[in-house]
Amino acid sequence: MSTIFQRIINKEIPAKIVHEDDLCLAFHDVAPQAPTHVLVIPKKELANLAAAEDSDQALLGHLLLTAKKVAEQLGLTNGYRTVINCGRDGGQSVDHLHIHLLGGRALHWPPG
Ligand code: AMP
Repeated sequence: MSTIFQRIINKEIPAKIVHEDDLCLAFHDVAPQAPTHVLVIPKKELANLAAAEDSDQALLGHLLLTAKKVAEQLGLTNGYRTVINCGRDGGQSVDHLHIHLLGGRALHWPPG
């Protein structure tokens, strides 16, 4: 079943895209939890981290490095946080793997 993120990849619904390449897309979260809140998602349909396989190793590395580059691009020089929610207990609400990139303010720990 197609998720809302698949529809963003397909350009069926709009998003504020900050990066796109052959493997992934990064766009601003519609309900930001920090001054900067971007989601980095693979174009491959992958439900979550638990669904990733050894063959996804390069893709997962690419997503993390893209998060780093987007953080630089958006000027998060004081640091930032990356989060991957996985499954129900992890608080995942969209069943398409995504890395949250949060920054622009001091973030608390633990996240709750
Ligand atoms: P999670 O709860 O980890 O699955 O994160 C899903 C995130 O997707 C939430 O932070 C939502 O605010 C965000 N989100 C849902 N729909 C959209 C959308 N159409 N455009 C951008 N972000 C979205």
